[in-house]
Amino acid sequence: MELPFAESYKIKMVETIKKSTREEREKWIKEANYNLFSLKSNQVFIDLLTDSGTGAMSDKQWSAMMLGDESYAGASSYYNLKSTIKDLLGFDYFLPTHQGRAAENVLFSATIKEGDIIPGNSHFDTTKGHIEFRKAKAVDCTIDEAFDTEIDHPFKGNIDPVKLENTIKEYTPEKIPFIVLTVTCNTSGGQPVSIENMRDIRNIADKYNIPVYYDSARFAENAYFIKLREKGYENKTIKEIVKEMYSYADGMTMSSKKDAIVNMGGFIALKSEETFKKATVFNIVFEGFITYGGMSGRDMNALAQGLDEGTEFDYLDTRIKQVAYLGQRLTDFGISVQKPFGGHAIFVEAKKFLPHVPKEQYIAQTLAVELYLEAGIRGVEIGTLLADRDPETRENRYPALELLRLAIPRRVYTNNHMDVIAVALKNVFDRRDGIRTGFNILEEAPIMRHFTVKLEKA
Ligand SMILES: *Cc1c(COP(=O)(O)O)cnc(C)c1O
Repeated sequence: MELPFAESYKIKMVETIKKSTREEREKWIKEANYNLFSLKSNQVFIDLLTDSGTGAMSDKQWSAMMLGDESYAGASSYYNLKSTIKDLLGFDYFLPTHQGRAAENVLFSATIKEGDIIPGNSHFDTTKGHIEFRKAKAVDCTIDEAFDTEIDHPFKGNIDPVKLENTIKEYTPEKIPFIVLTVTCNTSGGQPVSIENMRDIRNIADKYNIPVYYDSARFAENAYFIKLREKGYENKTIKEIVKEMYSYADGMTMSSKKDAIVNMGGFIALKSEETFKKATVFNIVFEGFITYGGMSGRDMNALAQGLDEGTEFDYLDTRIKQVAYLGQRLTDFGISVQKPFGGHAIFVEAKKFLPHVPKEQYIAQTLAVELYLEAGIRGVEIGTLLADRDPETRENRYPALELLRLAIPRRVYTNNHMDVIAVALKNVFDRRDGIRTGFNILEEAPIMRHFTVKLEKA
């Protein structure tokens, strides 16, 4: 008999989580103006809001923290992280930042000017926010297959080379300071980019002399999918694949809160000394001196260790199989989720789940609230609230997909939790015909409204 799958780690420390009653949840979600970001964490039983900064650090990471060097300049923790980044990713230059969006803020300050165009694969919300904040424009060049949740394409994060080249020709290369490739592509559902696509993008970029930066939060999960799905990579280690991925990049911005399994941190890594020097000025202004830039020494040490552990096959296999386990259970219940299953989350198709709720009433948000009411599970809307308004017309942008994202924190929950999530969603599914109205906006911020939006029942 084949042995069943089990986690490649055991538990050394536990944290209590609290169950609640439906009555309590009804009161709490109303007080939170139906925005799950406004709930207190002790009002949540299973928290799938994000996989960002919510992972469990290992014994080795905690012990690395004790060796953190808190010197203002030239700390050994900085050099430790610098050499890990060089060995693992191949970049000579790096700047620590306090998280991923800070890396974007620093790098974009050095590279983007008003009127610029940044082509990419479904830019992440903070990336788009930082582009639009500078009065530049993000152009989505993701392959069309990404927008059909039923097509089983192995690399739905890929950029369409034809769309990319047409964008470059339309706007001219002078308007394009860089191309951004998000690995895995968060916004399109944690979908990977193939090595072949990375090579194609590199060739186009070289033809027009445009740098390519990878938005790298989930680069290790991307490498795992390459190993499983791309011909010629099945026998390579994750670390070998990662090295090759970055051989096609000029630089990267990193949210270390994802695949590096730390609770806070980020960095920029670059091949060009010139770009590094420009970015350094902004890093010092916004983040801190070059050798700590927004991170303490102990955090840089834990990050270096996390980068190493996060690119080990056994860990990634445990992680991605847990996400797929939840995806399969939901599929077995007849619930439509994005396929193939993403690396860090399962995306439930809210339009198919709640066909009676009008799109003007925020379908995926309605489903997120229903799941919370059912079992105290907190997911997040990836739909019209997140898509925000068009910066020029101020009209709502209705995305092709309304998704409820169930992001799975790394090394935190067991498959028993996955079972609770699956059954809770099935219970909502069984009563879906009774759910016919959603929400109206009471109050919203001018950009990135989803974090603070206040809603009322429609
Ligand atoms: C999380 C994330 C960011 C932003 O990083 P923070 O650490 O949250 O600031 C940028 N890009 C992608 C793809 C991300 O997933």
